[in-house]
Amino acid sequence: MSYVKELILEMFGEEALQVVKTLMKTGRIDEFSLAEKLKKDVNKVRSILYSLYEKKVVEYDRERDEKRAWWVYFWWVNEDRIKELWVKKHEEEIKRLEEKKKMLSANQLFECKDCKRVFTFEAAAKHNFSCPVCESFLDAVDPSFIINEIDEKIKALKEEIKKVTTSKE
Ligand SMILES: [Zn+2]
Repeated sequence: MSYVKELILEMFGEEALQVVKTLMKTGRIDEFSLAEKLKKDVNKVRSILYSLYEKKVVEYDRERDEKRAWWVYFWWVNEDRIKELWVKKHEEEIKRLEEKKKMLSANQLFECKDCKRVFTFEAAAKHNFSCPVCESFLDAVDPSFIINEIDEKIKALKEEIKKVTTSKE
């Protein structure tokens, strides 16, 4: 459930999380009953469901109500899809961190002692290794500490992914 909460909050917000949580409890349910459970206007609930449906987080089918001569829509959560999106997001984060690591390893960077702004070698050399903002000295940055931190983050993310993909939730 924790990754469900994390993903839905991040991508769709608090109201959508309420909808998803309720749907996970009820299973397939028509939108009027769902709106009633959520104590929300059915149009509001519908618009949340549509935004979830755009990412295939929820699915629907419909049944003909012959008495009222209209279609009733039934909705449910696609939990595998939530897991898939969550994993994708985390894999993208790993990729970003690996790019950053590559950048840090490949470029000599310089940091201002006072304002802590960071510059590439080219930028630092252009200003004779003094900060263009506050004119303090620019020091060469030893990236090994930052790279270690990135490695730790990548490791933690990979473990999280493993936990979620092997869980039966
Ligand atoms: Zn500075």
